[in-house]
Amino acid sequence: MAKSIDAAHSDTSFFGDVCQFFDHAAQFTSHPEGLLDQIRSCNSVYRFRFPIRRGNGFEVIDAWRVEHSHHKSPTKGGIRYSEMVNEDEVMALAALMTYKCAIVNVPFGGAKGGIKINPKEYTTAELETITRRYTVELIKKNFIGPAIDVPAPDYGSGEREMSWIADTYQTMNPGQLDALGCVTGKPLALHGIAGRKEATGRGVAISIRECVDIAEDMKKMGLTAGMSGKRVIVQGLGNVGYHTIKYLIEFGATVVGICEYEGAIYNSSGLNLDEVFTHRKMTGSILGFPGAQKEFKNSAEGLEQDCDILVPAALENQITISNVANIKAKIIAEAANGPTTPEAAEVLMNRGCIIIPDMYCNAGGVTVSYFEWLKNLSHVAFGRMDKRYEENANLNLVNMVEKTTGVTLDAVQRSLIIKGATELELVNSGLEDTMIRSYHEIRDVQMANPKIDGLRTAAFVSSIDKVAISYMNMGIWP
Ligand code: GLU
Repeated sequence: MAKSIDAAHSDTSFFGDVCQFFDHAAQFTSHPEGLLDQIRSCNSVYRFRFPIRRGNGFEVIDAWRVEHSHHKSPTKGGIRYSEMVNEDEVMALAALMTYKCAIVNVPFGGAKGGIKINPKEYTTAELETITRRYTVELIKKNFIGPAIDVPAPDYGSGEREMSWIADTYQTMNPGQLDALGCVTGKPLALHGIAGRKEATGRGVAISIRECVDIAEDMKKMGLTAGMSGKRVIVQGLGNVGYHTIKYLIEFGATVVGICEYEGAIYNSSGLNLDEVFTHRKMTGSILGFPGAQKEFKNSAEGLEQDCDILVPAALENQITISNVANIKAKIIAEAANGPTTPEAAEVLMNRGCIIIPDMYCNAGGVTVSYFEWLKNLSHVAFGRMDKRYEENANLNLVNMVEKTTGVTLDAVQRSLIIKGATELELVNSGLEDTMIRSYHEIRDVQMANPKIDGLRTAAFVSSIDKVAISYMNMGIWP
């Protein structure tokens, strides 16, 4: 059967790369080609243009929203603000969202949006106009809504933009009770959720911890089990990169290298995150950081330095056939979407490296977005109903144990046991459980079939199966 037009995208495109990974994994499933074609294709691609007033004239803005799969509703995925945005990229990112949600059992279809601007070149007022107008265009075509399609932050956007989207949607849908569930990644004061900002980076760090804790897998690469002493290079000091570094250090790793677009820095005994961050804020660059032993004006050189784990946390196509030979890391944790091309991935796999695939590795963001959406639909913060009840129940238990045993706990021990969970603690617990379970789910799929050549293929097999089951349950396929 002929492949649909977008599934047959050129092999050099990002969407083509995602399809290539998909096709490679699909051979390990037993679904009919028609169903695979339906899963792989982008269902709806909305491309639009709108003018904004700028200076004395007008500027036309190019924008997209792609809904890749409607096997579950709503569809979900961030909005990228970048000069590099194009239709192929948005399609690829939307497809990855479908597989990502399936991997971590978040009940959404995949989507992605893009606005082709460099946000740094626009005033706050202009960015607000662009974001509100983008939202209106989505509303006009029924491409946004708590039950339809729910955007979130992505590269170049954050809480501020999500607030504008929520406000525009609410204004145009007066009286819609669940309106705030139309977008996630909102600030806490606008019914966002505690822990969303840190979620992607925290999830990345947990995924790496899960990976390095398996002694058998580490041994094959000549590494010891555990995070302690692992040397990591992270590319990107944005929201994802920053939080990944923060939690990796907290878990015991040593971050030896940091790369940003202006260059890279390296210190074999470790870099201090907050000092690097402050230095960059003050000087506009990571270069010149006094705690670095080496620095590279060509940022790409930073990726090639000595380390155990490399975390690309910026953009796609960072590890390609032209630099893969120089990559020294044994574990690649894909915090960004699509940082490794299929050809480079094959070289790394043949070398015995582990690639923790993007669709799992960076899924912490959408996982906590799911919690935020649930919070918005239920109109109550997590823990609000049961925190005090839990504390009273724990207090009674502690009193009883003290009475029967005659042992008295000190104040710190007492409060540790009694304390009910806050929203942040519940979110972090849900996130950690999701990341841990999913890692083992993927690894089990890999272990079950020696022909499955890595975690990415295993992750695709697992998500293809899940999406296929949804379609079959809908009665679309026998
Ligand atoms: N943009 C993020 C991602 O690529 C988050 C998506 C979301 O929360 O919907 O996973």
